[in-house]
Amino acid sequence: MNERPFRFLQPLRDLLRAVSLDERRCILCHIPFSPLDRGAMPPESVPRIGIPLCPSCRTLLRPRKSGYCPLCGEPALQPEARPAPCDACRKTSPPWEHFRFYGLYGGALKTLILRGKFGADPAVLHLLGRLLAHACADLPRPDAIVPVPLHRTRLRERGFNQCQEVARPLAHALGAPLRPDLLLRQHPTRHQVGLSEAERLANLEGAFLASPQVRGKRILLVDDTATTGTTLRRAAIALLDPHGGAAAVDVAVVARTPRDNQDYSDALAASCGLAAEKSRS
Ligand SMILES: [Zn+2]
Ligand SMILES: [Zn+2]
Repeated sequence: MNERPFRFLQPLRDLLRAVSLDERRCILCHIPFSPLDRGAMPPESVPRIGIPLCPSCRTLLRPRKSGYCPLCGEPALQPEARPAPCDACRKTSPPWEHFRFYGLYGGALKTLILRGKFGADPAVLHLLGRLLAHACADLPRPDAIVPVPLHRTRLRERGFNQCQEVARPLAHALGAPLRPDLLLRQHPTRHQVGLSEAERLANLEGAFLASPQVRGKRILLVDDTATTGTTLRRAAIALLDPHGGAAAVDVAVVARTPRDNQDYSDALAASCGLAAEKSRS
């Protein structure tokens, strides 16, 4: 039995438990935990922002450490060195000014992203948005938060745009308006998975159209994951081009997949397996 500090608070705890405020179910492992047990929180875990994660899952989702390209998040070859742009960004500088991401695509973060995206779990997408807000705290204040849009056919199939659901709590945390209306996906595009860089660029040619209302605004573009960054690049260019005329674009993504990592492609291919996981939980 673990000794609880502040034993005199026990009657209050009993009351809270009676009305189910002292016990919550962890959104990741589904095990009940008490948010009042602050003493159990490990150091260096996810920030304590009242999110429904048990102490051990908080540790699994701890924020990334340094050692990434500041322009695209590609892991650095020498993580201990000062942050420097990677070879690809040195060759072709991305159109955005700042790039922020919460973590690398894998482990617990990957589980949550797939659950939010293909399991249509709004609570999970809300949590991802709150985590992303933590990574974006030092960005210049945006005039508008713009989620990467889905084409209306894909939106009808899925029923929601996962980027918009992630962007919602982010907009709330940064105190900036959420404006999904500022960027339109003009025509449906093939899935990017398995395409070469040249094919990806061609696939997204003219895919996005920015509203003239972005003129002069600093836009924070939000996506759930980024691999090669082609989608973000096309979207940012559309916002910045003469038709759009945004003053600047910054980018925020929940998870960054290292360029040569097949993990994301494999996970997408296996995403139908999530239905089984969902029915178990
Ligand atoms: Zn947990
Ligand atoms: Zn880079």
